[in-house]
Amino acid sequence: MKALSVLGSTGSIGTQTLEIVEEFPERFKVVALTAGNNLDLLVEQIVRHQPEAVALAQPEKLAELRERLEALEPALRPAQLPELLGGSDGLCAAAAWSSADLVVSGIVGCAGLLPTLAAIEAGKDIALANKETLIAAGPVVLPALEASGSRLLPADSEHSALFQCLQGTPWADTARLSTGVPTPGLRRIQLTASGGAFRDWPAADLAKATVADATSHPNWSMGRKITVDSATLMNKGLEVIEAHYLFGLDYDHIEIVIHPQSIIHSMVELADSSVLAQLGWPDMKLPILYCLSWPERLPTPWRRLDLTAVGQLTFRAPDRDKYPCMELAYAAGRAGGTMPAALNAANEQAVALFLEERIPFLAIPRLIERVCDRHRADLTTSPSLADVLAVDAWARQAVLEAAAALQAATPAALPA
Ligand code: NDP
Repeated sequence: MKALSVLGSTGSIGTQTLEIVEEFPERFKVVALTAGNNLDLLVEQIVRHQPEAVALAQPEKLAELRERLEALEPALRPAQLPELLGGSDGLCAAAAWSSADLVVSGIVGCAGLLPTLAAIEAGKDIALANKETLIAAGPVVLPALEASGSRLLPADSEHSALFQCLQGTPWADTARLSTGVPTPGLRRIQLTASGGAFRDWPAADLAKATVADATSHPNWSMGRKITVDSATLMNKGLEVIEAHYLFGLDYDHIEIVIHPQSIIHSMVELADSSVLAQLGWPDMKLPILYCLSWPERLPTPWRRLDLTAVGQLTFRAPDRDKYPCMELAYAAGRAGGTMPAALNAANEQAVALFLEERIPFLAIPRLIERVCDRHRADLTTSPSLADVLAVDAWARQAVLEAAAALQAATPAALPA
């Protein structure tokens, strides 16, 4: 029985993880949960899974959570109320919960960094969905993994595909996950991308893209932030940096290919020129399950892939002019040090402004570019955690300032 701490249990990754736990009650149980604001769903999850600990991002909501749990009908009330924790320290305590074997890192954004690091420092294995942690703080996370011996198992579908393709190679035998050391025999990575919400839109129409347009993904059902990242292709750019840290390849050997059907989840090319791919329907439950069960594979009754129903698998190169975020991510990855932290924070802040309808879609890459340009002079090559957090805070503020400046210069283009 593997005991899980699920960070971000009320989100898309978190709820799918809990569905898997319910499908395999003899294999997995939940000992800790964390959430942001969604108390209704969290209470349901506590009733169903009876965790030992629950942490809320906002400590001021703890009293309400306690009241709601105490007000449950006796039949629903957990035999013992979980330990209730709050704030950053509470999230970190739930992440490092002593009875947890594996921590599912499913908080969105850099808010997941400190809890994920706490889990690593406690020696827990991590199912990593929260890519922003590795992108912002790769130079901090990799040594922490080395020191604690915990393993970073990729839950992102593309990196799970790469990880699955590498099973059975000398790399997998060494079990050297995420040490930043080049993977032996791995020559090239091809990350597949659906192309996001705007893949069939002419570039000229992107100026009119609304929040509703950008949050309708053609293939995947995900949280709002990552769905917008898919529409800008920043998600793929972030995944390039994630792949660099996970598999140790340089940026010239990590490529993006548009594959609208999302059936091939990514490919590795090995030294002898053989290319291996992992295929499946676009469903996050498979990569999440693989993190939970690795190195085993569990039989599931899930819908089986039928390529005759798919018909065609097509591929094309991404349009670099239409999707400037991709190049911004490559440039930030190549600059290294604190630049990916600046890129990531600028993206989080710009996407938040877009979702609040305070900036248009095309302002997202413009704001990120300005912030990365400004950060170049202050880049730290071997950052500490404090450096990463300082750059993260600075970049968010810099986006707000740049958005205000853009708004003053072009009020029509940037609605208040
Ligand atoms: P969601 O927005 O659906 O869920 C985010 C979760 O994080 C929720 O539980 C939310 O709580 C919680 N949360 C939000 N802000 C904070 C905060 N400041 N402190 C603590 N908890 C917080 O996101 P997704 O599940 O889509 O994505 C989670 C991560 O997984 C992201 O890094 C994403 O890039 C990655 N990922 C997601 C995929 C997917 O299919 N969804 C695919 C691959 C990667 P609440 O809702 O209670 O406010």
